[in-house]
Formats: sequence, structure tokens, C-alpha cells
Amino acid sequence: MNIIVCAKQVVDVSEMKVDPNTKKPILHGVPQKISDIDKNAMEEAIKIKDKHGGKITVVTVGPNDAKERIKELLAMGADEGVLIPSPDKCDYRVVSTLLAEAIKKIGEFDIVLCGEASIDMFSGQVGPRLAGLLNMPQITYAQNVNAEKDRAVAECNMGDKCVTTESSYPVLITVTKEINEPRLPSLMQILGAANKPINEWSADSLTKELEPKVETLELKGIPMERKNIVYKDDVDDSVKKLVDSLAKEGVLR
Ligand SMILES: Cc1cc2nc3c(=O)[nH]c(=O)nc-3n(C[C@H](O)[C@H](O)[C@H](O)COP(=O)(O)OP(=O)(O)OC[C@H]3O[C@@H](n4cnc5c(N)ncnc54)[C@H](O)[C@@H]3O)c2cc1C
Repeated sequence: MNIIVCAKQVVDVSEMKVDPNTKKPILHGVPQKISDIDKNAMEEAIKIKDKHGGKITVVTVGPNDAKERIKELLAMGADEGVLIPSPDKCDYRVVSTLLAEAIKKIGEFDIVLCGEASIDMFSGQVGPRLAGLLNMPQITYAQNVNAEKDRAVAECNMGDKCVTTESSYPVLITVTKEINEPRLPSLMQILGAANKPINEWSADSLTKELEPKVETLELKGIPMERKNIVYKDDVDDSVKKLVDSLAKEGVLR
């Protein structure tokens, strides 16, 4: 089973602050990490490889330092990485086109795994666009995947209902966070990852379709204000007041 995992390096949004004057997110110095749900995709790939054997290749479009993040996925269990240094300007179409061309260059594959969405831009466009460009079936929002010998069967989270879908191979599957708990690699695995190959393919060696169609005009964050309310009464009274005030805010019903 040849499995390809698309993984994006993102800013750790939990560490991001918003400039109170401009409302722009302060990105300088914010740590980078692999988008959370892409680690779930990686974990699922390992489970499928454990069952059927095969090879896992991680593909990333990102800056040069994304190599360090790819190493984390190699430590988890991927066999090989591919980094496509991102052009200065790229939109969903450019990213999807680069991933599609890289996957074609990798050659034979059975399953492409993506996250349902990245944790920073969260458009959820890349997986479905990729399936379109590769002209292959897709299963989205999978919260459970059973990779059988000749087909994949997945339970998909459609909000108020769960839909079971099956597809022959090759298939692209986007997964949700609920699908599994990504493993933490051991020290030996982290050290071993240094010997696994990471190939670098330039964007223009893959495609000449590098002109973005969508331009991001402005990016504004939503500042979160703390209310600094402290309940000092005894525990029962404080809990009641807390619950009442959360209900008033619409957090609890
Ligand atoms: C330098 C730069 C400039 C940009 N300029 C623009 C712009 O002008 N206009 C604009 O619209 N956007 C711009 N972007 C944003 C960028 O295009 C999006 O981050 C990208 O299209 C992916 O969209 P998303 O994060 O919403 O992915 P989603 O569709 O939410 O991601 C779903 C899944 O697709 C896969 N995936 C997504 N991105 C990648 C990746 N890079 N590598 C590997 N797998 C991936 C992952 O599995 C992920 O879980 C820019 C980004 C960069 C780095």
C-alpha cells in the first residue's frame, strides 16, 4: 500500500497574539508546527501501513524550515518526505496544483490522506481540489477508516449524521481530529528520522501554473478579552454563579 500524507506547516495559533491597534495577527516569532489534523492523517497512514505494509511519503508545500517539521512525521513513521518550497504568492489553487504534480511525480499510490482543514487558514479546499486535479474519488470528513485489501470504507462526520462511504483505490481521504490520537515518537525514532530522505522539488520544476487567482487583501484577528471575574464565595455558590453567568453569555444552555 503506497500512502501519501499531505501535511502543512502552520503557525501555532494558540501562541499567536493580535495587535490591539491594527487588529493584525503578530506572526513574528510565533512557533511553527505541523497542522494538528495532519498528524491525525499521519497516524492513520501508519495504522494502514501496519496492516498492509507499504510506504508512507509526506508532501509539504512550505518554507525551507518546514524540513524540520517533516522530520517530526518521519519520526512518527513516514518513510520519506518531499518539500516543495512555496512560491512567494500562493493560493489554494497553486498549493493544490503543486501537491497534485508532486503526487504524480511520486508515481504509484493507493491512498492520499489530508486533514479536513488546516488549523490556520481552515479553508478545507485543498483535499477536494487535489482529488479533482488527480481525477480520483474522494471521501471527506472521515472519522473512521477501514482500509481493506481492495477498498476503503469510511464513516464520515456530516455534522448531524454519519455517512458510511466506500471507494476502490486509489482514493483521497480527508480525516477529522476524532479519527485517532497521534502517537508521540520515541527518542530512538526521533534520532532515526535524521537518516530518512527528504527530497526537495522546486515549484517551477513541477508546474508553470504558479499564478494565484485569489489575493488576500487583509488578515485581521479577533482579540479575545478576558473578563477577569473572580468568584470568592464558597465553592457551591461560586459554581452556581459561574454556571449562571456562562448561561447568560450563551455558552451554556
Ligand atoms: C507565502 C504565502 C502567501 C499566501 N498568499 C495567499 C494569497 O494571496 N491568497 C490566498 O488565498 N492564500 C494565500 N496563502 C494561503 C495559502 O494559499 C493557503 O494556506 C493554502 O492554500 C492552503 O489552504 P488552507 O490552509 O486553508 O488549507 P486547507 O484546505 O484547510 O487544508 C486541508 C488539508 O490540505 C493539506 N494541505 C493544505 N495546505 C498544504 C500545504 N501547504 N502543504 C501540504 N499539505 C497541505 C493538509 O492535509 C490540510 O490538512 C498564502 C500562503 C503563503 C505561505
